[in-house]
Amino acid sequence: CGIVGYIGRRDVAPLLLEGLQRLEYRGYDSAGVVITSPKAKSPELRMVKAKGRVRELEARIPKRFAGTTGIAHTRWATHGAPSDENAHPHLDADNKVAVVHNGIIDNADELRAKLAADGVVFQSETDTEVLTHLIARSDAKTLEERIRTALQSVEGTYGIAVMHADFADRIVVARNGSPVVLGIGDKEMFVASDVAALVAHTRQVVTLGDGEMATIKADDFRTYTTEGSRTTATPTTVEWEA
Ligand code: GLU
Repeated sequence: CGIVGYIGRRDVAPLLLEGLQRLEYRGYDSAGVVITSPKAKSPELRMVKAKGRVRELEARIPKRFAGTTGIAHTRWATHGAPSDENAHPHLDADNKVAVVHNGIIDNADELRAKLAADGVVFQSETDTEVLTHLIARSDAKTLEERIRTALQSVEGTYGIAVMHADFADRIVVARNGSPVVLGIGDKEMFVASDVAALVAHTRQVVTLGDGEMATIKADDFRTYTTEGSRTTATPTTVEWEA
C-alpha cells in the first residue's frame, strides 16, 4: 500500500516512521521497516515489523536502532492475512535482500512452487516474498541486474524498493502499475509511493514511469528501463499546501 525510503546522513528510523504516518490516510493493516548503516565494515540489515498501526511498529523499535539508510512499508493485504510475518519488508534466509512491494504478483503461486521445489523455505504467505528469493538467488553481478532478472519472471503490478546488505550504498526501486516517486534532497534522497510522504523534506521530485527503475544513492540518482537502458529524469517541483 505505502512505501517510504531514505538514504543520507540522518538517523533513518524516525524519518521513516514519520513518512509512514503521512501515508496512514490510505489505510493499511500492518507496517514494517528495515535499516542499515552503509559506513559499517560489513553492513547488516535490521528489520522490525508489526501487525496493526504504525504506533505499534514504533513501540517495537529497539532503543538502539541507528542507521542512515532504510525502507519502510504499510501493507494492505492481498495475499496472506494481516500478521507480523506477512508484513513487509521480506528478507531472504541470509538476511541480505529486503523488499517492500505495493501491488500484486499474478503468477506468485507458480513461482513459489518452483522456488519451494528448489529448497527455498518461505517465511510468509505473501506474493511479495517470491521477489525477495528471486533477487537473492540471481548470480548477476550488480544488484540492478539481479532485480531486473527477477522482474523478468514476474507478471503483475508492482512498486518496489529493494535494499541489499552487500550493496548498502543504494536503494533500488522499480515501477509497473504502482506509483514510485524519488525525492531529491541535498546529499540525501527519498523514495515514496506518494509525494505526501516526502514533501516535508523536499519539493524536488522525479516520478517514475511504468517499466522504469531507479538507483538512488545519498548524493546521486539514475533512472533506466527494466531492460537496462538509461532514461532521462528531470526533477520537477511539486506544489504543496502544508
Ligand atoms: N500483495 C502484497 C501483499 O499482500 C502487497 C500489498 C500492498 O500493496 O500493500 O503483501
